[in-house]
Amino acid sequence: MNGKTDDWGWFDEALGVGLQLGLKIESVLYRKKTDLQDLVIYQTSDWGRVMALDGIMQVCERDEFIYHEMLTHVPMLAHGSAKEVCIIGGGDGGMLREALRHPVDRVTMAEIDGSVVDLCKTYLPSISNGAFDDPRADLLIADGAQFMAESDRTFDVIIVDSTDPAGPGEVLFSSAFYANCKARLNPGGVMTTQSGVVMIQGGELTTTVRRLGEHFEDAHAYIAAVPTYSGGFMGFGWATDNRELRQHNRDTIAERYSAANLMTRYYNPDLHGGAFALPTYVAECVEAGK
Ligand code: SAM
Repeated sequence: MNGKTDDWGWFDEALGVGLQLGLKIESVLYRKKTDLQDLVIYQTSDWGRVMALDGIMQVCERDEFIYHEMLTHVPMLAHGSAKEVCIIGGGDGGMLREALRHPVDRVTMAEIDGSVVDLCKTYLPSISNGAFDDPRADLLIADGAQFMAESDRTFDVIIVDSTDPAGPGEVLFSSAFYANCKARLNPGGVMTTQSGVVMIQGGELTTTVRRLGEHFEDAHAYIAAVPTYSGGFMGFGWATDNRELRQHNRDTIAERYSAANLMTRYYNPDLHGGAFALPTYVAECVEAGK
């Protein structure tokens, strides 16, 4: 870095609580106020390209693998034989890319804003990496809550890759939505959710665990450290009626990991179990929801 401040300045994601993320910007590649949200794609100096929705960091080329690997492979390898997968949200295609690395029959993806898909395909193609062209991918441009309420499909794994609980994403954190997800989950299935940065949005994790617990036997959480979701560990909601899914031993997970021939850069079989070993402040948020 030459230390020179360029003409573009910084993308500052104001997170509230007196903390903000700053990413040095070289250019704005695209900006559009879609019908639903304000979408911006930046070229940064050192973190690749970045997409923000309504001023909130969504995906960053340099570290997106962490979030997408952890929200996909933990439920997929815990389940062990998922054939029907559902992604709610996920417009950048990263979750779809990771889910399709497993021997699934179909991944149904309900994303509310087609502009996000189109623009990420154009400006952030490395994220989806061709996943939208996979014949097993079934992309629906729809409100995920409405899809879950009306669909007759059932799933082995449901992944909620949503924005935060504001604007169009808010409904994806409701008990009614979770009830519909439960109704669409096959016996032994599992659901995971994007549940915010716990140090800043711990109350969201507590509420998610509480609401999931209204419908599932085992409502819990696991974590990952994502540099550009700043503020410490990111929380992921976990929900299933099969308590066994959270107890799998490392050898079982390792066998499934190598059978799937996954080449991951954050997830690994040791980390699978470790992700559920929660720091006390995270465990407190989870227990408050029980
Ligand atoms: N990794 C990001 C995070 O942790 O906040 C999420 C990324 S992904 C781009 C979030 C997606 O959720 C966006 O494409 C947005 O359009 C979509 N979304 C928001 N509300 C939705 C809804 N009700 N139904 C379906 N998709 C929704």
